[in-house]
Amino acid sequence: MNSTECSDRPNRVILLTSPSTYRATPFMEAAARLGLEVVQAVDLPAALAEYWNVPLGVDFKAPEAAAEKLIAHARRQPVGAVISVDDSASLIAALVADALGLPHNSPEAALAARDKHLMRQRFAAAGVPSPAFARYELDADPATLAAQVRYPCVVKPQVLSGSRGVIRADSAEEFVAAFTRTVRLLRSLGFAPGTTGVLVEEYIPGREVALEGLLTGHGLKVLALFDKPDPLEGPFFEETIYVTPSRLPGAVQAAIVECASAAAAALGLRTGPVHAELRVNERGPFMLEVAGRSIGGLCSQTLRFGTDMSLEELILRQAFGFEVESLSRVGSAGGVMMIPIPGAGILRCVEGIEEAGAVPGVEGVEITARIDHRLVPLPEGASYLGFIFARGERPEEVEGALREAHRRLRFRIDEELPVINPVVGGDPGLAVIQ
Ligand code: ADP
Ligand code: CA
Repeated sequence: MNSTECSDRPNRVILLTSPSTYRATPFMEAAARLGLEVVQAVDLPAALAEYWNVPLGVDFKAPEAAAEKLIAHARRQPVGAVISVDDSASLIAALVADALGLPHNSPEAALAARDKHLMRQRFAAAGVPSPAFARYELDADPATLAAQVRYPCVVKPQVLSGSRGVIRADSAEEFVAAFTRTVRLLRSLGFAPGTTGVLVEEYIPGREVALEGLLTGHGLKVLALFDKPDPLEGPFFEETIYVTPSRLPGAVQAAIVECASAAAAALGLRTGPVHAELRVNERGPFMLEVAGRSIGGLCSQTLRFGTDMSLEELILRQAFGFEVESLSRVGSAGGVMMIPIPGAGILRCVEGIEEAGAVPGVEGVEITARIDHRLVPLPEGASYLGFIFARGERPEEVEGALREAHRRLRFRIDEELPVINPVVGGDPGLAVIQ
C-alpha cells in the first residue's frame, strides 16, 4: 500500500461467501493487492466447517445467529469492513457492520434489496416505474388466480435469483402451468407455504440493460451500463450476452441512470456496489430489480477501472475509505456471454474451445460446468455452462466476437434416464449464479 491508502480502521475484512461462488477469488486477489487480511466466513453448517477445517462456518439461512457469531469474532479480531460477495449474505453483512459501527447499508435496505415483494412495494411507494404486481402464497389455487391475472404476466419466486423459477405466461392455461412449476421448485428447495411467496407481475416488453454502479456520498456513480442484446421474451429468461458501453441513445441512458438511482434510494441503499436491471420501451425505463452487490458469476472480469483496477478492488477501497483515483472504465468495449445450457442431460464433453478462443477480440473461454455432471436448464437450473469474454473497439464488434466464439463451441450432452422428480436435481457442486 502506498501512503495515500491508509484508513484508521483495522486492515482486516470479513468476506462472506457461499462455498461454490465464483466471486470469492477476485475479492481475495484484490484484498491481497491492498494488503488486507481476509477472514472468510463461509456458508457451512458448523459440523461441516469443522470437518473441512474452515475456521469460520456460518449458516446464511439463520442471519441473526450468523451475525452474532461474526460480531463476537470481530470483537476479538477487529475488522475494517464486512463484505458479502453476493446476495445470500447481504443482510448478515449489514447486521454485523451495524453492530460494529462500520459504514454499510442498513439491514432494512439489505432486506428490501433481496426480497422481490418488499422491493416492489418500496418502488411503488416511491413512484419508481416498475411492473404492477401481486403476491400469492405457495398453496394458493392457480386456477382461481388465473382468472384474476392480466396477461402477459411473469411468475417468479419472492426470493430466488439467477432467473430461477421466473416464467412468462400469456394465458390462463400457461399461468397454471407456470405457477405450479415455480411452486414445485420452491418446495423442492425446502420452502414451505407461509415461509415465502410467489410474485405475479405485469410483463414489461422492451430492451433489457444492466447497470453496475457504486453508491457514494455523492449518489450513484455508474461504473458500466451493459446492453443485453439477445431478446429476453420468455417463457424462461436465461441470461446470455452483456456488452458495454450501451448503444442506447444518450437521453435513454440518462433516464436509466435516473431510474436506477431513484430505485436504490427507494430501498434505502446508501453505500457500496449496486447491480440494477431495467427494461426500456417507448414509455421509458422500468425497474426490474436493484441489488446491493456487484455483478455475478465471472462477469466482473470484463471491467477494469482507473489504471487497471478490478471491480473488487474498487469495492474494497470504497469500503475502507481508501483513495479511488478514478471510477472510469479502462478500454473501449467489453462483453461477456454466459453460455446458455442447450438442454438437460449429462455433459460429456465440450469441443472447439481453442477455436472459440482464437476469434479476434475473444479474451477467454471458461467452461465452468463439470464434465460427467448433470446440466439442468432454466427455470429449475442454477448454473451456466461457462463464460466467453471479449474486448474490442466497439460494442458491435464485441457482440460479434462473442457470437462467433459461441458458434465454434460444440457440446455433447447425453440424455439421462428419466428421473422421478426432475426439480430435485442439480449438481450442488456447480456454482450458483446470482
Ligand atoms: P432474478 O432475481 O432471478 O434474476 P428477475 O426478477 O431479475 O429475477 O427476473 C429475471 C429475468 O426475467 C429478468 O432479467 C427479465 O429478463 C425477466 N423478467 C422478470 N420480471 C419481468 C417483468 N415483469 N417483465 C418482463 N420481464 C421480466
Ligand atoms: Ca435479476
